[in-house]
Amino acid sequence: MATEQDLMERIVSLAKRRGFIFPSSEIYGGINGFWDYGPLGVALKRNIKEAWWHDVVRCPPPGPDGQPIEMVGLDCSIIMNPKVWEASGHVGGFSDPMVDCEACKARFRADQLVYRELYSIGPEWADLEHPPVLGTFDEMHDTGEAKPTGHRFATLPGTSDDELKTIVRRLLGSKRAKIITVFEEGDDLGRKLVTDGNKVYLIDSGPLDADYPCPTCGGALTEARQFNLMFKSHAGAMEDSASEVYLRPETAQGIFANYMNVLDTSRVKVPFGIAQIGKAFRNEINPRNYTFRSREFEQMEIEFFCHPNDADTWYEYWRDSRFQWYVDHGLKSDKLRLRNHEQDELAHYAVSCADVEYAFPFGTSELEGVANRTDFDLKQHQEASGRDMTYFDDQTKERFIPYVIEPSGGVDRAALAFLCEAYDEDEAPDEKGKMQRRTVLRFHPRFAPVKVAVFPLVRKDGMPEKAREIYMACREQVSAFYDEKGAVGRRYRRQDEAGTPFCVTVDGQTAEDGTVTIRDRDTMVQERIPSDDVAAYVRERLRL
Ligand code: ATP
Repeated sequence: MATEQDLMERIVSLAKRRGFIFPSSEIYGGINGFWDYGPLGVALKRNIKEAWWHDVVRCPPPGPDGQPIEMVGLDCSIIMNPKVWEASGHVGGFSDPMVDCEACKARFRADQLVYRELYSIGPEWADLEHPPVLGTFDEMHDTGEAKPTGHRFATLPGTSDDELKTIVRRLLGSKRAKIITVFEEGDDLGRKLVTDGNKVYLIDSGPLDADYPCPTCGGALTEARQFNLMFKSHAGAMEDSASEVYLRPETAQGIFANYMNVLDTSRVKVPFGIAQIGKAFRNEINPRNYTFRSREFEQMEIEFFCHPNDADTWYEYWRDSRFQWYVDHGLKSDKLRLRNHEQDELAHYAVSCADVEYAFPFGTSELEGVANRTDFDLKQHQEASGRDMTYFDDQTKERFIPYVIEPSGGVDRAALAFLCEAYDEDEAPDEKGKMQRRTVLRFHPRFAPVKVAVFPLVRKDGMPEKAREIYMACREQVSAFYDEKGAVGRRYRRQDEAGTPFCVTVDGQTAEDGTVTIRDRDTMVQERIPSDDVAAYVRERLRL
């Protein structure tokens, strides 16, 4: 049985080999946190974005009253007036605590140092995506080891009480960190242990202990300083503070900044939503887990504006329909979950929030977040810009600032989840009938980069000409691929690895009766159909 790590390595290697994902600027050694999508990867991503746009902008699910809901699209600039980011709180708050080594100048994220310390106990303790959780808050409060912050602590299963105490003392005995954790409660709660640790945030990194050494050279560390995650640049020739601009760390703020423009120009009425797909940039301290945490990525975001009294209903509508979207596209229930944030985990502006999470081979992590952001953002922009953000309801004659429900997902994380879910290995007979291991991507039909591949069995007897004709007819309707090189079995295998649902082969019989074989990726069963019917057959079988 492949370990989860093996599995991830195989997925990464397949994605590279078949042209889904390459390290960015690889010929120069790559650059940490940046990725390029190759021919199949870009098709996968486009399919995801088109499906999303279709399902949330053009044909969103009917509203809670069964009526169509109003959704419009937007495409904002990546660089905006920096005042947007001051108003949104990103200039002041979008940061991670960092410490520098005074001797070797290495820089570390303060909470990672804590984990380096934990690493000495066991590597699993240093897994930042699945951090250990450290006993219950009540437990530690009773022993005076934790201040009452209202946050809970829990632990990995199988940790002895003594080990637990040592860790808790190490972490909380120093001024280094208050760590709050967020997790699901597991069966072991009776022992004050929980089994499913999920996130650790360092909310307050006080100065590190003076005697805490640099893990690289043993030198002295500075106090923790906040490091802003926004990439900076300059607009115009002058490189001074007046020309400083930011690459957007999220697409959402562009929507808020245009909310009035959309209201004034598109005849929408509250409740309505604005959707946007676009690049976002975050100077993540620790890009990791392949494309999961990148420094440049794409978001698919909706800001849905509604009356404050209806916000709970719309929150549930979006939370449930976004979760269902991933289910409908093949993420299986044992790997997908909807995790409601607890009260103490919510951002200060949000009243409710839930994450759609997927069990990647490297751990369960967020695909999309859905939050009720209240009127926080519009109020912030109203105050900072001096522009009126209120909405006047001409039926009720009420004037109010709408509440906003935000479903915010990542295209790259969705692509990675669909890739991981699709990855499978089974056995298939080769040309001599001997069983060989086969790698296959069982993509949902909507997402498969190529829907049908067309081959001539051999490169003679008019077969290539006929196959090309079929290919040309197909590609008008579905994404198609033509291949005539190498043994046909190999060509099937290549298409299995690309996730192509159907392969069509023109053979000797085609010239006689006008039929071709069509092979199903998943069952590997081949049947004969008239060559004129290929596109219609594929569309029907894939329900496109
Ligand atoms: P995380 O806690 O994983 O950093 P987040 O809660 O900061 O994510 P949001 O700010 O809510 O993420 O962003 C919305 C969505 O954008 C996320 O659900 C995710 O799909 C995507 N996203 C955020 N940061 C990254 C990143 N560094 N790389 C790839 N996708 C990202």
